[in-house]
Amino acid sequence: MPETMENNFIWDFIEEDLRENPNMKIHTRFPPEPNGYLHIGHCKALCVDFGTARRFGGICNLRMDDTNPAKEDTEYVDAIMQDIRWLGFDWDDRFFYGSDYFEKDYELAVGLIRKGLAYVCELSAEEFRDPKYCGDLTHPAVSPWRDRPVAESLDLFARMKNGEFPEGKYTLRAKIDLASGNFCMRDPVIYRIKYVEHHRQGTKWCIFPMYDFAHPIQDALEGITHSLCSLEYEIHRPLYNWVRDNVDLPKPVSGFPRQIEFARLNITYTVLSKRFLRGLVESGVVDGWDDPRMPTLCGLRRRGYTASSILDFIGRTGVAKSDSLVDIRQLEACLREELNATAPRRIAVVKPVKVVVTNFPADRTEYFEIPNNPQNPEAGVRKVAFTSELWIDADDFAEVPPPKFFRMKPDGEVRLMGAYIVRCNEVVKNADGSVSEIRCTADLETGNGMPADGRKVKGTIHWLSAAHCIDVTLCLYNNLTTLENPANKPSDKDYTDFINPESLIVAEHAKAEPSLAEAKAGESFQFVRTGYFCKDTKNPSTFNRAVTLKDSFK
Ligand code: ATP
Ligand code: MG
Repeated sequence: MPETMENNFIWDFIEEDLRENPNMKIHTRFPPEPNGYLHIGHCKALCVDFGTARRFGGICNLRMDDTNPAKEDTEYVDAIMQDIRWLGFDWDDRFFYGSDYFEKDYELAVGLIRKGLAYVCELSAEEFRDPKYCGDLTHPAVSPWRDRPVAESLDLFARMKNGEFPEGKYTLRAKIDLASGNFCMRDPVIYRIKYVEHHRQGTKWCIFPMYDFAHPIQDALEGITHSLCSLEYEIHRPLYNWVRDNVDLPKPVSGFPRQIEFARLNITYTVLSKRFLRGLVESGVVDGWDDPRMPTLCGLRRRGYTASSILDFIGRTGVAKSDSLVDIRQLEACLREELNATAPRRIAVVKPVKVVVTNFPADRTEYFEIPNNPQNPEAGVRKVAFTSELWIDADDFAEVPPPKFFRMKPDGEVRLMGAYIVRCNEVVKNADGSVSEIRCTADLETGNGMPADGRKVKGTIHWLSAAHCIDVTLCLYNNLTTLENPANKPSDKDYTDFINPESLIVAEHAKAEPSLAEAKAGESFQFVRTGYFCKDTKNPSTFNRAVTLKDSFK
């Protein structure tokens, strides 16, 4: 849990509950649907669920909400557990599946029918959408089957379970209020027939409970005191309470669970929807769920995000009752702040251009000491080799320099970081006009010091010895979509119409300090003047840019 998570309205509610019921042991749950990998939005829910339990000395369950049998997979279950552990949350031995309660759900549904509180309906899916049956704001809904005798509903429901009917032929509906202003309460469907194999139950069931029916039952059975969920469930709360209060469940000692809704996390240029993310994976737009452009936890991890920086971000965004949009640069700032303090500095050259220092002996190697973290002297120094042939970044050279260009330019002087001041004397071109090499002379009196005559040299650029470097691939990432506020997507467009063509730029012929050959997968560095990079966990010699050095906006 982020230590920065501040007091919020949920905690105020719980404190009220505790005043009334001081012996209540706070018990929450995180109920992901195992139909995809967790994204950073889920991290917010995790912080709220686990963080609230921790705040009140309580506990939090992990429950796979696998009531809906479509598209669920053990791959997702395993990944979800791994990601939650990575964030540092722990459910101990309280790991459950919603499907474990299918028998109980069925039994409680039968109980509702017996009490005259549920009935088997024969409206087809089409009829359900027909205003004649579903009504509107001024007209109540209609079901010709509402007064079906209990015995008949009991018989039909048992036969639905036995697989005697095709999908869509019958549903079980709660008998609540067809005229309710809240459409969720207009005799909602609580069971439907589905011939889909369940990832854990196999083909044992062909009727499945709806989320709104199953969830309050699961919560009550597990003794959950506070069912914390995102705002879209607010209109479902009366139904949550109706189910909880009308099925035949013994009241837990700490009372029935209370549902409290909080605003989802929304981030600029980021679509937080498993459906959309799964589409990207399946269509190959991205390289799997852990593509470093994905807002999934595994994607962020591979990109170089740490659990602590993500938790810090969630803590800073706070828990609110109304929706808002958080600037993605706030997330980047959290990582930048952390890596600035922790990441060792190294040198990499994204677009290498050859520099020849003509007055430096071709057979000589000199070593300069460069700090591993200028802001932290304890990080020490390392030796970097200097030879007559060097690489500098193409962006650090301008043949026709714009005003105030203090890097390398013809007849200009520039400092090679931590080493000599050099003067650019000649630019040698290839047949196609591109730069083949830049010929310089070094002021060999300077070393890593000031010129003896006190003249000013404004620019400093980084460099690598061509004889002492390795080839690396640098992946430069940008926002995955071009849509600042995903909620503003025009309805005639798809999110895939907004994929940023520059979301990944690959620098295939980059150079880096030789020691980076030994970097461990997942290790992070600041490549000086270039960005924070993390060694990729899949492709050798590849480093992912986790975040740029500076906020591009400022
Ligand atoms: P998605 O829309 O991405 O498919 P979901 O809500 O269907 O997400 P679940 O697996 O049902 O995904 O989510 C588990 C929990 O995470 C739920 O309690 C849900 O409210 C919460 N959650 C999902 N997305 C967000 C978000 N962006 N911000 C906060 N909580 C979220
Ligand atoms: Mg869901």
